[in-house]
Amino acid sequence: MAVSTGLIEMTEVEAGLYLHFSPPVYYSVSNPHDPAAVRGARARREDFRMWQNELPSADADLRLTLARLRRSTGHGDGYITSAIFAHQRLEELPRLKLLQRRLVHLDLHRLKAIDGVLNKIDASVTAHMAVIDEELTDFLTPTRANQNLPTPGEIRKKLNAIIQTLDTSVSEKDDPLPDPRDHFEVGFEGDRAYITVETDAATGLEIDIRVRKHAAANNMSLVDAYNDLMRGEGNTSVTLNIYRAHDVEDAPGWMSDVGYINPTFTDELAAKATRIRDMDELKDKMVKGYATPEDIKAVIIGFDGGCSEADCSCPGHRTQMEHRVNHADGGPTTAANMAAFCPTHHNVKTDGRMTYIIDPHTREKYLLYEDGTYVISEPRGPLSLKERRWLQTVGQRMHNRRERVRKESQDRRNLEKRAGLSTPPPTEDDPPPF
Ligand SMILES: [Zn+2]
Repeated sequence: MAVSTGLIEMTEVEAGLYLHFSPPVYYSVSNPHDPAAVRGARARREDFRMWQNELPSADADLRLTLARLRRSTGHGDGYITSAIFAHQRLEELPRLKLLQRRLVHLDLHRLKAIDGVLNKIDASVTAHMAVIDEELTDFLTPTRANQNLPTPGEIRKKLNAIIQTLDTSVSEKDDPLPDPRDHFEVGFEGDRAYITVETDAATGLEIDIRVRKHAAANNMSLVDAYNDLMRGEGNTSVTLNIYRAHDVEDAPGWMSDVGYINPTFTDELAAKATRIRDMDELKDKMVKGYATPEDIKAVIIGFDGGCSEADCSCPGHRTQMEHRVNHADGGPTTAANMAAFCPTHHNVKTDGRMTYIIDPHTREKYLLYEDGTYVISEPRGPLSLKERRWLQTVGQRMHNRRERVRKESQDRRNLEKRAGLSTPPPTEDDPPPF
């Protein structure tokens, strides 16, 4: 028997679950009032069950498993192997697995993104995996009705940020991330050339901003602007903003598009900074004109992180500042009345196809579309409430680590004292005492 809820026929089980739990919080991909989301959730649940049921045992011959799944699913080896690894990874993340079993909000694409990033670290360090499991589960738990689900790219960024804050002293290795390698290469194919450069994130962001600014100023393509700058023509001055919590010790930094950067790199960049601004003091700054000054823009990007449209991946430094209440209608130029939008979604708002309300406390945006639907778009910048809370967690973890290291060294000194050693014996590397 099927039960109708008005929009779509749910199966009896689905309707029963819906009536019993009637979830007050859910991601838009699990919206029980959205027919496409209901069908999508069904497909996701079946896909999740299938892979979980087909996971090979530890002693299974992987080639036989692959051959069988190729026949059963029609997918290629690469797709199947990464799906198996992604599902096996959940065994190392028991909290996330529990959440996923309940909500089934993560599709294979997102599970593969999680597995891909975790390949970087030593999963046998259980203390690391426990922190990752807890903070990733928190990141992927809905707190509002119909909020947008983080994209695979956002999940990757969050995971990288968590990994950067891990206590590496419990690991065998000094650093859970592989050493970065700078790289420059020009490759040719026919009459086309491909230029590849690997450098640090701050330099990469600076090049991106420089090229875009030069292109806009001279009304030329990005490639023409890049070539122009390489030939030493034109000069652009750029501002790189690095955000860092001042009330959290050893806090990671944050940059547009890059996301969080490790504390050591943040220290290096901060040492080169020409100006330091307190974002909290600028939060309520208001100016008379329509144009947004750089400091107010920095606050808005610090809150929103990127384009405010749910699921849009446009980074903060490429967004435009949008007056929620138009300036002409008396809307002030201040962070509370403004949001970052990419040029495309800025047009959607200007055309009246979408309007929005900003929650003044959380900075979440309630986007209301002309067809009557809505979505809650979560802010992704480091000044947003959720990110501030996460940074406090990181600060607490750093504090606990320092306490532990201090206690261990005290214990060692006490032991040495009891053994009658006031100073440690010289090692072979020490110079002779004369
Ligand atoms: Zn956008």
